[in-house]
Amino acid sequence: MKTITKIKEHILSFIIKEEAKVNTEIEELRNKQHSNMSDYGLGGPYQRYEKAIERRKNHLAELEAIRKSLHSAVVLVPMRFYGYYCPSCTEKIYIQSRNPETIECPLCTRRIYRDGAYTEWMIQNNSRFTKLNR
Ligand SMILES: [Zn+2]
Repeated sequence: MKTITKIKEHILSFIIKEEAKVNTEIEELRNKQHSNMSDYGLGGPYQRYEKAIERRKNHLAELEAIRKSLHSAVVLVPMRFYGYYCPSCTEKIYIQSRNPETIECPLCTRRIYRDGAYTEWMIQNNSRFTKLNR
């Protein structure tokens, strides 16, 4: 499995190559368009080159849109929380990695029971909501 960052880098480098190729094509078309102008003026060939350039400019705009969407792509990762309820504290306690039948309430040290299987939250990785503050 490849990381999302790697996949994004891959797509991005592909887009950059495509953009460079299309820009070169536009330049070549412009040169041909200008060299043809002396023979045909602004007639048929000029317009055909203009259309070909226009198509490539639209293509570049679409590539730009993909590039932008890459930066805003939200990656959600599942995070499981096992809940325990303490009747003395009337407090719900969540733990993340293990799920024994009972745990000691971290507030009053009473033995408390697991409450349901688990709660799964989809969280945005590396978002400001999941930032670890110390
Ligand atoms: Zn308690």
